[in-house]
Amino acid sequence: MSDHPSSKEEERRPIRRSLWRGLLKRCPNCGTGRIFARYLKPTDNCTDCGEAFGHIRTDDFAPWLTILLLGHILVPIVGTIDYYLAPPLWIILLCVVVIGIILTLALLPHSKGFCLGLMWALRLRGDEQH
Ligand SMILES: [Zn+2]
Repeated sequence: MSDHPSSKEEERRPIRRSLWRGLLKRCPNCGTGRIFARYLKPTDNCTDCGEAFGHIRTDDFAPWLTILLLGHILVPIVGTIDYYLAPPLWIILLCVVVIGIILTLALLPHSKGFCLGLMWALRLRGDEQH
């Protein structure tokens, strides 16, 4: 039997805890259920506590966050390779493409989980009109 938050805790949605659980691709509410049915497809409801996620739309937030992180990781790697090894330009470009694709595929689900955790904690759905 898993620990489900009490009804009082369900009303509270601590942002830091929700972000961390989302980053780990876990339900921001219970921390044990998975939030993705497939690679980037959120489940309609948590497999453990039943919390709804299917209505949350993160739109471009996750790709934007992934690009932001990727730039901060990729540029120092490429700079280090160029500085210490000084390979031909085509090898540097090949490294950028290969490392970039691998890091993007690895980071994107965690970024989306982070965004889902944030939006869940703030009770946002992604279709708010301002
Ligand atoms: Zn859950």
